[in-house]
Amino acid sequence: MGERSAPVNEFPQVRPEQPYAYEAPVSQVLFDRAAVVTPGGVNSPVRAFRAVGGTPRFMVSGTGPYLTDADGREYVDLVCSWGPMILGHAHPEVIAAVQDAVARGTSFGTPGEGEVALAEEIVARVEPVEQVRLVSSGTEATMSAIRLARGFTGRAKVIKFAGCYHGHVDALLAAAGSGLATFGLPDTPGVTGAQAGDTIVLPYNDLEAVHAAFHAHPGEIACVITEASPGNMGVVPPQPGFNAGLKAACEKNGALFISDEVMTGFRTSKAGWYGIDGVKADLLTFGKVMGGGFPAAAFGGRADVMAHLAPAGPVYQAGTLSGNPVATAAGLAQLRLMDDAAYEKVDAVSAEIRGLVGAALTKEGVAHRLQVAGNMFSVFFTDREVRDYDGAKAQESFRFTAFFHSLLSQGVYLPPSAFESWFVSTALDSAAIERVAAALPAAARAAAEATE
Ligand code: PLP
Repeated sequence: MGERSAPVNEFPQVRPEQPYAYEAPVSQVLFDRAAVVTPGGVNSPVRAFRAVGGTPRFMVSGTGPYLTDADGREYVDLVCSWGPMILGHAHPEVIAAVQDAVARGTSFGTPGEGEVALAEEIVARVEPVEQVRLVSSGTEATMSAIRLARGFTGRAKVIKFAGCYHGHVDALLAAAGSGLATFGLPDTPGVTGAQAGDTIVLPYNDLEAVHAAFHAHPGEIACVITEASPGNMGVVPPQPGFNAGLKAACEKNGALFISDEVMTGFRTSKAGWYGIDGVKADLLTFGKVMGGGFPAAAFGGRADVMAHLAPAGPVYQAGTLSGNPVATAAGLAQLRLMDDAAYEKVDAVSAEIRGLVGAALTKEGVAHRLQVAGNMFSVFFTDREVRDYDGAKAQESFRFTAFFHSLLSQGVYLPPSAFESWFVSTALDSAAIERVAAALPAAARAAAEATE
């Protein structure tokens, strides 16, 4: 897939006084229509391009490494639907599995074999997961894992880290990354003091702060939740020993360690980030890649903890569309295709693109750090290593804006925020990578010339 001789994209700049108002007339009409019936014109905030300005592109199709927008322009996709599309778009075997499932009906509200097979695949891949419960979004997975941890321990407090995003769970929307980092909101209206009052927010990569919190709240902390390797403040991997230190602190204090692998799960390796650092969490959460582009997510872990979940135990959790047969068919097909060779390929593609980005920025003398977690990476416009959320926020994100728009105008689609991971796919072939390479020199120049 993907070996195509697509026309060179041309993106005339229609309003020179608005440097980022590239012509995207059909997308603009759709965005105007959307804004009438949907708050801000989008169904998830970061899609609105507010961090970078300009018209969000309404996509109409995807094939392999490419997306095509409503104006008929093609982009090399380095977002991959924020992670799920690790095989690229419309992979024939995934599409065939979906078509086969759809033809047999779309939802039964009963148990089905597909969900058993997907659960077996997850359990087989990720050793600490002895049992798993399927849900429909990463948010549901983390919300349910926290409830289960509280139900299991009989304790209320939760430790999370600034800059880590775990979905829009009330209790976890404190100093979150992702859209909240983009908008610089420390919190959100609508979350009450009571909902956030049991959440302790600590600086990322700071084990001393974790020990101090356990010391200050003996017998009160139900769990520590962390992104296995954070990607929602840009890519900020755990320092060596950080996750192991969290696990040890939890064990010592009778709390559960929850590793949020919604982003890293089945992306950074066959067994996600666990496959890289080997730290055994008590509970893990998954989403994105395991759904094959459909709403499927999961949480799982120690069997003795999972046994507390209804109907086996007293902690309630449910979902009308949980384990949906079409979503599970897509997820299973994608996971089965992600074998060792596929991970090697996606890692190699990531390394190649990182190399090109680094070389282009270096050539233009732009201070930057490429931070990497497996095949996830992001560029920080700073010369310092970023270890936490404060470090991420200290970058010159105005340079990202110029870099982003230059690439967009040349047909390369990046996440529209400086605080996001880039995601690559196995579908990125040499033709697609060449297009990225050809676009980078001008983008690096734009970043160099950008002013606040
Ligand atoms: N956890 C992490 C680490 C995430 O990156 C995300 C989403 O980006 C979520 C949880 C929430 O997942 P969803 O958007 O499917 O609710």
